[in-house]
Amino acid sequence: MNTISNNLNLVLAMLEPALSSSSKSNFYYQIAIRLSRIARKKAPWSWRYIQGVSAGTIRPSKRFAAACNLLSETLNGTPPELTGLIPVRILAQPYLIRPDSVITFPSHICQFPSCTCTFIPRVPNQKYCPQHSDRKSRSNHRSP
Ligand SMILES: [Zn+2]
Repeated sequence: MNTISNNLNLVLAMLEPALSSSSKSNFYYQIAIRLSRIARKKAPWSWRYIQGVSAGTIRPSKRFAAACNLLSETLNGTPPELTGLIPVRILAQPYLIRPDSVITFPSHICQFPSCTCTFIPRVPNQKYCPQHSDRKSRSNHRSP
């Protein structure tokens, strides 16, 4: 039981920076959802279950222990889909992109003739940067 609590607390410590939340219960809920998905559990564990196992007051099920082991192993090693990624400089509002986010879309160059802005599109066929996204702004600011 102690091993599972330690494993869970390791998982909690590793995910806290990425999932930090306004409340502890919401943070535990997010962990519960992830572990439930790993275990392919239809009815997810409750945040109180996570809290109880973490505190050592609830004895975890074998299924929970297995999910916890799998998640901690994944967090300790680099998942194969993340190999080859490097940090790049991105300009963004701090609330839009969390640090160390994986970006899965290639950046585009704005199609407005005089614009050299590069951006991450919100939809795959987005042609213009946020400044030139609406038709009105493109017609008002004709390129020379
Ligand atoms: Zn532009």
